[in-house]
Amino acid sequence: MPVQQIPETLTRTKAQSRPETLADVLVIGAGPTGMACAIEAQKAGFKSLIIDKGCLVNSIYHYPNNMVFFTTPELLEIGDVPFTTASAKPNRLEALEYYRRVAEHYHLHIRQYEWVKTITGEDRNFRVTTTDRHDAIHDYRARKIVVATGYYDLANKIGIPGEDTEKVFHYYREPHPYFDRDVVVIGGKNSAAEAALDLWRHGARVTLVHRGSQMHNHVKYWVRPDIENRIKAGEIAAHFNSTVQEIGPDFVVLRTPEGPIRMENDFVFALTGYHPDYDFLRSVGIELSSEQMRPVCDPESLESNVPGIYVAGVIVAGSRTNEIFIENGRFHGKLIAAHIQEKLGGGNPNFPLDAT
Ligand SMILES: Cc1cc2nc3c(=O)[nH]c(=O)nc-3n(C[C@H](O)[C@H](O)[C@H](O)COP(=O)(O)OP(=O)(O)OC[C@H]3O[C@@H](n4cnc5c(N)ncnc54)[C@H](O)[C@@H]3O)c2cc1C
Repeated sequence: MPVQQIPETLTRTKAQSRPETLADVLVIGAGPTGMACAIEAQKAGFKSLIIDKGCLVNSIYHYPNNMVFFTTPELLEIGDVPFTTASAKPNRLEALEYYRRVAEHYHLHIRQYEWVKTITGEDRNFRVTTTDRHDAIHDYRARKIVVATGYYDLANKIGIPGEDTEKVFHYYREPHPYFDRDVVVIGGKNSAAEAALDLWRHGARVTLVHRGSQMHNHVKYWVRPDIENRIKAGEIAAHFNSTVQEIGPDFVVLRTPEGPIRMENDFVFALTGYHPDYDFLRSVGIELSSEQMRPVCDPESLESNVPGIYVAGVIVAGSRTNEIFIENGRFHGKLIAAHIQEKLGGGNPNFPLDAT
């Protein structure tokens, strides 16, 4: 008799294969906040659906490959799922794994790689239109909407000649391609400090250019002495109170307190921050405060000026993107779910989470 082979691995079942076009709560953005919102809505018995234009936790996926969070793991937890790591602070890969496990644990309905383009209709009867990677259009209906679209997709531009050329990046991933090259890093916060150090440690000749008089005081406490000592030792060249005025094919021009400096250059990392997609928020009808572009919303429920549309996560802080992060944005889900429950009269807590 033939011996039956025991397979070493089993094929995974497709997480969410059924078309799901009608949701009680439709969440735009599968970041930590969007996930927390969907989990809390599900716990309250509402049928929830998340749509993301990229992959699950798309922003974290695009962070520098070797980034380490400044937050300890328990403060990144959502849905009461424990997050433990061997070191005091989790790294990017551990966070990606954690959020994948949470999505699986709660059987979250997530449409990845679909870009939400329009929201029409009104409270309890919204219509959401997306496009996928093949330009196909999809329609969804939802009773309530949560916008948790983050800020990492749109870089703050400096507005100088040459900024839009191929040698200029607004995101830093890894150092290897810049070995033995002249690299300018613009910025004075964490992203700039960490990129400058990583590039220097992997053989790039690094010049840091920052308009402030020193590194920003938000730089992680273990990174700051490192960057300051490299600068003191002359290993990383630094120009403070300075700006980049022009980026050419093989040079950059700096404006410094000592006058203009032209230097050889191969690549530029302009790490000057990011901002929410204000146009998208406005297109939905959400009003933004004139000064800090904060969405107008009820601070208790996070319902925006458009009835039935909630805002969550870092976008609530408008341009002040360092006010809300995962640590505090993860609690928005509970506030929103409680308000939706009040308005819709409660979902069905016995509703099987993966039923359609
Ligand atoms: C390098 C770096 C390190 C950080 N370290 C920490 C840390 O240690 N601790 C901490 O608490 N915070 C940290 N932060 C900040 C934190 O990551 C963000 O505040 C957090 O990700 C915000 O969560 P969010 O869910 O609001 O938005 P995001 O995580 O940005 O999620 C938004 C999602 O919406 C999607 N989206 C946007 N527009 C659309 C659309 N129209 N249709 C469909 N999907 C859309 C995006 O693809 C994205 O997946 C760090 C940030 C950076 C850049």
